Amino acid sequence: MPGYMIPCRYCQQLVPPDANTCPACGKVNPVQARCPKCAHPIRKGWVACSSCGLSLEITCPFCGQKTFFSDYCEHCDRRLVVTCPHRKCRTEQPPLGDKCIKCGRALG
Ligand SMILES: [Zn+2]
Ligand SMILES: [Zn+2]
Ligand SMILES: [Zn+2]
Ligand SMILES: [Zn+2]
Repeated sequence: MPGYMIPCRYCQQLVPPDANTCPACGKVNPVQARCPKCAHPIRKGWVACSSCGLSLEITCPFCGQKTFFSDYCEHCDRRLVVTCPHRKCRTEQPPLGDKCIKCGRALG
């Protein structure tokens, strides 16, 4: 459907349904929350991903409060990604565990 737009779930501006980033507020996945592990669509309020079973309630690594695990913390609005501290890696990843998904070394 040409011209079909959906409101961004952060700023409510209309964005294309396949947008990866909201052109109005710059946040990722403006239309559909996705599982940080398997990218399956998820819904706010779920406690686990229906596809891979990942727990969707985590403690925010920035503010320490419990939040729904999608793209941004519900409390401090920081993006829920951590960067591997190792100089040659620096991979950005969702805070899924205590080891880097790329190099396997401890995250901070
Ligand atoms: Zn937006
Ligand atoms: Zn999943
Ligand atoms: Zn937070
Ligand atoms: Zn790493």
